Amino acid sequence: MTRLIFLGAPGAGKGTQAKTLADLCAIPHISTGDILRNEVTQGTPLGVKAKSYQEGGELVPDHLILDMMRERLNQPDTKDGWILDGFPRNVTQAGFLDNLLKELDQKCDRVVNLDVPDEELVSRLLGRGRPDDTEEVIRRRLEVYREQTAPLIDYYRDRHQLVSIEGSRSMAEVTAAIQKAIDL
Ligand code: ADP
Repeated sequence: MTRLIFLGAPGAGKGTQAKTLADLCAIPHISTGDILRNEVTQGTPLGVKAKSYQEGGELVPDHLILDMMRERLNQPDTKDGWILDGFPRNVTQAGFLDNLLKELDQKCDRVVNLDVPDEELVSRLLGRGRPDDTEEVIRRRLEVYREQTAPLIDYYRDRHQLVSIEGSRSMAEVTAAIQKAIDL
């Protein structure tokens, strides 16, 4: 049973590593960014509401994310574990997740924080070419990360759940470092 939260700035490699680890552990990789992009593409009611926030690099309002995650973590495939990627993204969402996990009688094992220097983040993101990866939106996403998401590093460190991994290495090296740190 493995339950992990992945933290990291945009471009830190969190999505790639979360997917790799989820495949290795045969558990779902739950990426709020992927779910939202999919809702936007499909033009669902949630997608219509989320579109302008996502395209501008702003956080989608908490109540939309909280409903979406409550529903996702109630799906049967989450019984064997999960990796959360992109959630929680601020302290309000972290508090909500605590309560939701209590309700579900589940516990998160570790919070993996991928640490990558700023210069490298920007060059990685510009090379990636996702629709919300224009230079202006990237700058805004990094600001939002610093203001709202980075405080979660201390939040989880204080609770002794944090594992920090140097993320500016090859993908395989980072995967190996995470596996070692979480003892998988
Ligand atoms: P990255 O980690 O590269 O910023 P993501 O795919 O995780 O990319 O997220 C892309 C966008 O999706 C964010 O900029 C935000 O608009 C939206 N988003 C994803 N997760 C959340 C969340 N937990 N709360 C609010 N908005 C979110």
